[in-house]
Amino acid sequence: MTKDNLKFIFITGGVVSGVGKGISVASIGALLKMRGLKVLPIKIDPYLNRDAGTMNPYQHGEVFVTDDGAETDLDLGHYERFMDLSLGRDSNFTTGVVYEHVIHMERHGDFLGKTIQIIPHVTNEIKRRIIEAGRDHKAQVVIVEIGGTAGDIEAEPFLEAARQIFGEYGSGRVAFVHVVKMDYIFPSDEAKTKPIQQSVAILREKGIQPDFLIVRCKRALTADNKEKISLFGNIRPDYVIPALDVQTVYEVPINFRKCKFDRSLLERLRLPVKKANFTIWDKLAGRLKSARRVLRIALVGKYIENVDAYLSVEESLKHAAASENVKLEIFHIDSGNDNIGEKLKGAGGIVVPGGFGVRGIEGKIRAVEIARESNIPFLGLCLGMQVAVIEFARNACGLVKANSTEFDRKTKHPVIDILPDQRDIKNLGGTMRLGAYAAEIKEKTLVEKLYGSRRISERHRHRYEVNPKYHEILKKRGLVFSGIAAHDKRIVEFVELPKHRFFVATQAHPEFKSRLVRPHPLFWGLVRAAAGKKQRFGL
Ligand code: GLN
Repeated sequence: MTKDNLKFIFITGGVVSGVGKGISVASIGALLKMRGLKVLPIKIDPYLNRDAGTMNPYQHGEVFVTDDGAETDLDLGHYERFMDLSLGRDSNFTTGVVYEHVIHMERHGDFLGKTIQIIPHVTNEIKRRIIEAGRDHKAQVVIVEIGGTAGDIEAEPFLEAARQIFGEYGSGRVAFVHVVKMDYIFPSDEAKTKPIQQSVAILREKGIQPDFLIVRCKRALTADNKEKISLFGNIRPDYVIPALDVQTVYEVPINFRKCKFDRSLLERLRLPVKKANFTIWDKLAGRLKSARRVLRIALVGKYIENVDAYLSVEESLKHAAASENVKLEIFHIDSGNDNIGEKLKGAGGIVVPGGFGVRGIEGKIRAVEIARESNIPFLGLCLGMQVAVIEFARNACGLVKANSTEFDRKTKHPVIDILPDQRDIKNLGGTMRLGAYAAEIKEKTLVEKLYGSRRISERHRHRYEVNPKYHEILKKRGLVFSGIAAHDKRIVEFVELPKHRFFVATQAHPEFKSRLVRPHPLFWGLVRAAAGKKQRFGL
């Protein structure tokens, strides 16, 4: 007998990768939470990296940061945004972490005399992480997304662990959801279910019979499609859930609800179906499609070929737009471009997001200069604040050679630098200023007005800071330090320019805390300013 009341939903993927498992998990979690359940999502990444922190945004999209400073897969961002939760490092683990722990135990002598094997030692460690996280968070339902596709070598131990949990907890406490994609044959465009059938067969080989299939499709499933999938997959026809392509991911929970997916899941897990209020969600998600007034916001960065590199920033802008009932056109500007001024024409607002390395820096500085001089609403995030300070130092304080030591180690005016006690970093993994830090906000500033508070907390992921040696001159020339780190008064967390329509930048990453139903005040402020509206107190 198990020592807890946990229930589990395991989400796997099949046919191809990138079918939307993360959004499916986020949507399922959002619906169950709205129905009053305490849910805990966990993302398993079968790669060997210890965490996502050292991975290139080109390959894996943005690195998402939690309050407790974990550098995680971007799916955690979807989970937090949809479920309106703050997750911790126990919601994401990789093969690397699992093996590291098992080998550590072996060296420690915890398995003395035994041969260490994938089953049971590695699978036990996987199960322990899932079950302990569920117990620690007192979750009613733990939703586990297994990254990759069924059939990948890397995913095997995780599927096996899921199978074992099913064996231990039993039917009624574990549900398996497999996310697949319908194939369409050229030129007839006929829908083909065979890859789906085969993908279910792969799972069955591993001892897992999915209860539900989420079928990504570009057209509604026909009765015939459903019947076939149901028959070959051995799945109840009403448990075959269509997932039509959508304009905005926030529609997915609405579509799931339409086919009673949340009710069926609860039924499968033998949980009561409580009444829920979905009105706010439906209204905001609806506005993302129906809003008419168009606002153009420029995102000036260097990873523009990868749509996911600035995912949380874009989602935060969308949350604000939904609340303001405007339609956003976010356009990406490559900061490596020669003529940023030309590209910025027609921008109602400018965002310079976070980043690393010298490439494209001058373009970002130029974008800030244009925003500042042309009175265009501007929001700088992390690196975006650092370039704003460099720009101000160069063009408003006359320090023409000002730079960050990240980009020019010998710069004459290192206005951005590593603080002396933070130098000496030998390892690049996990050694930045990471996670939640509190800031004290200056009275009567725009930042105070936006947050409606004098003490706030935001997440961080960076090494460099505004150099205290330059604080005086920057302030003297009119840059207002509207927030200072609560733990170290030398650290600047927010800057703003009072005479500007909206010029705010922060050393933090506020984009990690915005939700559809709770847009972040800084993004909302920017969107309001871009829409030509006054800032209301506390929004
Ligand atoms: N590269 C800068 C630093 O390390 C900014 C980092 C970021 O934008 N996340 O401080």
